[in-house]
Amino acid sequence: MRLVVDLNRCQGYAQCAFLAPDVFALHGEESLVYNPQAEEGQRERLARAVAACPVQAILADGLDDVDEEPAEAGQETSHAR
Ligand code: SF4
Repeated sequence: MRLVVDLNRCQGYAQCAFLAPDVFALHGEESLVYNPQAEEGQRERLARAVAACPVQAILADGLDDVDEEPAEAGQETSHAR
């Protein structure tokens, strides 16, 4: 997955580095370094980091299909007595 961080927006809150430490790291007080080609295995963490960034600075390709809650409708079977 490709991702881009808008470093003009990024305020160095480090939420992303906390949630996806294999993708993001903070060097010093406010310089963020990241892997622009995150591995597939990082998808879920990356999605959380994207959601957690307070300034929406992280843009990632192909995260739209991540469903946090699998829609599993509870099946009710009623047995008439
Ligand atoms: S969470 Fe957002 S603002 Fe904070 S370091 Fe990451 S990209 Fe920057």
